[in-house]
Amino acid sequence: MYTAIGYAAQSATTPLAPMKFERRSPRAEDVAIEILYCGVCHSDLHTARNEWKNTTYPVVPGHEIVGRVTKAGTGVKKYKVGDTVGVGCLVDSCRECASCKDGYEQYCDVGGMVFTYNSPDKHGPGPQTYGGYSTGIVVDERFVLKVSDKLDLKAVGPLLCAGITTYSPLRHWKVGKGQKVGIVGLGGLGHMGVKFSHAFGAHTVLFTTSPGKAEDAKRLGADDVVVSRDAAQMAKHANSFDFILNTVAAPHDLDAFTGLLKRDGTMCLVGVPEHPHPSPNVGNLIFRRRAIGGSLIGGLPETQEMLDFCAEHNIVSDVEMIRMDEINTAYHRMLKSDVKYRFVIDIQGSLK
Ligand SMILES: [Zn+2]
Ligand SMILES: [Zn+2]
Repeated sequence: MYTAIGYAAQSATTPLAPMKFERRSPRAEDVAIEILYCGVCHSDLHTARNEWKNTTYPVVPGHEIVGRVTKAGTGVKKYKVGDTVGVGCLVDSCRECASCKDGYEQYCDVGGMVFTYNSPDKHGPGPQTYGGYSTGIVVDERFVLKVSDKLDLKAVGPLLCAGITTYSPLRHWKVGKGQKVGIVGLGGLGHMGVKFSHAFGAHTVLFTTSPGKAEDAKRLGADDVVVSRDAAQMAKHANSFDFILNTVAAPHDLDAFTGLLKRDGTMCLVGVPEHPHPSPNVGNLIFRRRAIGGSLIGGLPETQEMLDFCAEHNIVSDVEMIRMDEINTAYHRMLKSDVKYRFVIDIQGSLK
């Protein structure tokens, strides 16, 4: 075992502060990773503050991890010391159910996902997993991803949660050339959705409640921007979308968007609201065979595919770098959506 230093919340109401804890010695199939950078996801804040009522304290958040391999177990095949790697939201799963065998570990049929933080740690020293707001992590190679050094590593971490959360549904619903695709919301998720939809060749329309975001959305790859509060603007797009990716986590009227779908169009939700959305109008769905779906992050094979796609097309997240000791201020700013579009912690440069 070795001692790592992390930033932990000790309770729902205490700010994050330094904490020393043990990481296991790498087993045969494990790699030890020195963490360079870690993105800051909204889930980190929800968990630190126990907003989902499932937090075990202390909690060390962070699941957008980029680092270097410092040690590889004797059975490790894919990685060697010095490799640049990533770790996303999962560090293990049951590996035996149909979903795990198909590479959809995030949908493990028996709920066997082990999240990167705040999950019971089967391999210890536990009792629970601790995430990427720390100097190092030890992970089974099957749950480690290759990261290309061609990319700006500071901006890669957010691909592992915000990136894959938008990439996976756009791929699943086969978004591409000749299609009209909507992205609802321009935050950490939405800005990646715009980049991917554009990269896949779709005519990409951003829906936002803030007219001020139009210029930025176009810079990120949107062909058009619609202010969703403006009924006249919305009406112009009725029955015209093949697919809409809705990243908004606050409860809102879904009908405003399902009405914009063509026959057989789908709107996929990736944000989980604290209180339910108003129940959607069923007539709106059945008269054009429209669908509402959902999607959760991505499995390991697809996450690797996304990272490779990003390396080929030079896609990363738009980030603002912070020091580890700035995390509490960053949470405060995140709550006001005051970030373009993801904070990333310079772990190596500020946590010792
Ligand atoms: Zn996340
Ligand atoms: Zn499984």
